[in-house]
Amino acid sequence: MFIDMHMHEKTFSSDSFLSLDEIVREAKKKGLDAVCITDHDSMGLRDVAAAYTERTGYPVFVGIEFYSLQGDILAFGIDRYPKERISAQDFIDMVNEQGGITISAHPFRNNRRGLEGHLDIVKGITAIEVLNGSTLPDATKLAEDYSKKLCLPATGSSDCHVTEKVGVYATYFPDEIHSIRDLVEAVRSGRCKPAYYKDGTYKIYEF
Ligand SMILES: [Zn+2]
Repeated sequence: MFIDMHMHEKTFSSDSFLSLDEIVREAKKKGLDAVCITDHDSMGLRDVAAAYTERTGYPVFVGIEFYSLQGDILAFGIDRYPKERISAQDFIDMVNEQGGITISAHPFRNNRRGLEGHLDIVKGITAIEVLNGSTLPDATKLAEDYSKKLCLPATGSSDCHVTEKVGVYATYFPDEIHSIRDLVEAVRSGRCKPAYYKDGTYKIYEF
């Protein structure tokens, strides 16, 4: 299965132009099996997404992109999240306590919003986003190096805010993912790989 794990919907991400309908329409067109909405510091779309999935049968999982004091971190499988910025370590601990997972979003992207060298310091992060739709090749290479060095699973995602970006990158799962729990367990056990969309299909990204 291919799932885009980092997407922004406009209701709770003020920098996004995408509605959930537009996201799903484009995701289906590209062949994605599910999408993840990870709005900035908000899981406000949870109820809407659950109702949407119930109505349409298309899986929409809601996580969060939390802007910690050291940079952006994606999280899934949680109910509670901080209402203000806290340290990366405190956020990771809070997510782990709830049985969730954390992924370092675009760790070396040139907007100073990645964890960068803090990856060497934090304990208990689950995975690293190696492919990100707004990240340049040098930063991608660094993320690959860190995924190998720290022996952490790698993911891919579009980080889309506009239609053209939906699904440009995704994450490949060899197992069926039916729930956010399945997603959490698959990433935690490293059963995932980054993928990219090319010539009308998804291909696994090897590095
Ligand atoms: Zn993002």
